Amino acid sequence: MRKNIVAGNWKMNNSLQETKQLLSELVKQDKSSQAEVMVAPAFINLESAAQFLKESTIEVVAQNMHFASNGAYTGEISASMLKGVAVNTVILGHSERRAYFNETDELLAKKVDAALANNMRVIFCFGEELSDRKANNEEKVVESQIANALFHLEASAWENIVLAYEPVWAIGTGETATPNQAQDMHQFIRKTVENKYDSAVANSVSILYGGSVKPTNAKEIFSKEDVDGGLIGGASLKAEDFFAIVNAF
Ligand code: PEP
Repeated sequence: MRKNIVAGNWKMNNSLQETKQLLSELVKQDKSSQAEVMVAPAFINLESAAQFLKESTIEVVAQNMHFASNGAYTGEISASMLKGVAVNTVILGHSERRAYFNETDELLAKKVDAALANNMRVIFCFGEELSDRKANNEEKVVESQIANALFHLEASAWENIVLAYEPVWAIGTGETATPNQAQDMHQFIRKTVENKYDSAVANSVSILYGGSVKPTNAKEIFSKEDVDGGLIGGASLKAEDFFAIVNAF
């Protein structure tokens, strides 16, 4: 079922104390929106966050995971470890993981499979670089990122896939895609999924936009037909700003 979702990616920010502080501010915020709300703290704070939010409708999600179920992968975290601390959703393919940790579409396909095999939901991120957009290649790049990592899946697996279109040139830069640029790309993404599967799959997948979403621009971006929510970086670190975005729905 297509849902509205606003997810905050905290990245490598917030100590345990700061995590608890931000969570206690988040639960006090007025939530008049119907959107599902998620926050993604650092690995080390996931268990405390999940405990803290046990009675809340805010879901705790992970920023990454390894594809293997266990073994000699120093420093890595598996799907079953996440499930063990009540984390049932994982962000995969964030552009920072692709750029700084060399994550390829092929590696991401394995991570997606591991998450789904563990009954987890995946927020799959992708998006073009500025050079791709300047060369009018954004649709080609986005289509291949989705196809390479997700088009081996059965249609039924898409129930647990959320797409997050994040143009790299708009992440943490203060530069946002215009609402029309976001809508055009989201429409293209939905069509791409429809061409591979069918309109039922395409119309039920949530497609989030990410890239410098702020309280001042969220309403207009979220008003677009094919934009089902947002993945929020910088603005998710302040409870008031994050909830102003959530309540933009
Ligand atoms: C992100 O990193 O997913 C993101 C959208 O960041 P920001 O909102 O800071 O641009």
